[in-house]
Amino acid sequence: MDTMTIAADTLRGVITDIFAAAGCAAEEAERIGTYLVSANLAGHDSHGVIRTQRYAQWLKEGKVLAGQTLSVIADSPVHALVDGNYGFGQTIAPLAVDLGIAKARANGMAVIGLRHAGHIGRIGDWAERAAEAGLVSIHFVNVESGELVAPFGGVDRRFSTNPFCVGIPSDDGGPMLLLDMATSLVAEGKVLVASRGGKPVPPGSLVAPDGSFSSDPETLYGKLAPETPRDPANGEGALTAFGLHKGSGIAFMCEILAGVLTGGGTSGPIPGGKRARISNGMLSIYIDPAKFGQPDFVARARDYAAYVKASRPTTPGAEVLVPGEPEARMRAERLANGVPLTTDTWASIVATARSLGVTVAP
Ligand code: NAD
Repeated sequence: MDTMTIAADTLRGVITDIFAAAGCAAEEAERIGTYLVSANLAGHDSHGVIRTQRYAQWLKEGKVLAGQTLSVIADSPVHALVDGNYGFGQTIAPLAVDLGIAKARANGMAVIGLRHAGHIGRIGDWAERAAEAGLVSIHFVNVESGELVAPFGGVDRRFSTNPFCVGIPSDDGGPMLLLDMATSLVAEGKVLVASRGGKPVPPGSLVAPDGSFSSDPETLYGKLAPETPRDPANGEGALTAFGLHKGSGIAFMCEILAGVLTGGGTSGPIPGGKRARISNGMLSIYIDPAKFGQPDFVARARDYAAYVKASRPTTPGAEVLVPGEPEARMRAERLANGVPLTTDTWASIVATARSLGVTVAP
């Protein structure tokens, strides 16, 4: 696998230029650059700049819209249902999170249902935003009519990769703990990365229509050449859920909470046709630990995390990590040394830039 390394700031600039040329306002283009690179910095290359070609294509096809904001559908001091109008997730999600933060700060807690947001990327970014405001947050996410994952015991696609995320604040301005996980055994983006020469996905990540398990990206995307856009609509297989029937059950509940309760729709087929737009639904719960009567919540959670980490490792010399620790370490390393990209990913970014008249230094 050929790789190259690029400084985070340079990469952010390239992605920002691409989306500005594609028709986004400067601030929105910069947000897209910032959050895609943030995913790479966290080590989630699957939700980083590898998405550039696909996002630009979606914008061109009108599957995601530039320059949108939230419409408030229902509202009370402790809840809101908001519609993202198919705007870029990098614009819509922070607006929804900020609404939750404001309500939770005022009233101790808030539940925000978000529907019809363009792809909101790495959910950890939104829990980190809440943690920076001193709040616990819990997020259930689905993808409207984006079914990719077979339920436990099935071969047909019924769920999306439905991430579940919990952020716990620290007292230094970021998250102390951050559980941010797809409910599929691997996120679709990990198959995308593997299809572009990156790390292979583990055996059993995919299931073929005949019920056999596989790790071949073509099970999801159909026959592939380097320049072929990776479109799951071209494949016949499915991703599998993590954790057998239990993970499949959590994926199911993400559909009910983020899809049915928000009114955004489940990942199942749209009655009467093909989906016209790409969208995430997210049900988020925000809690202010101080207003919950736990002024020393952070200190107690930190003590408990230290106790968990002190569990003797299965492999001598290895280490027990807590949720969010791999991402924090990766961010420090990549900020210092640059973001590695496969040459295939870089080529797809350069091709997208050229198609929009953006010059990228070699
Ligand atoms: P992952 O499997 O790499 O990590 C899942 C969680 O496990 C993380 O919280 C991580 O900190 C923790 N973890 C990892 N290694 C650990 C270890 N050794 N010890 C303890 N904890 C550890 O993540 P994933 O499931 O592949 O998800 C990747 C990303 O994809 C996430 O950011 C998710 O939000 C995103 N996603 C987004 C969508 C969407 O529609 N927007 C859909 C699916 C996934």
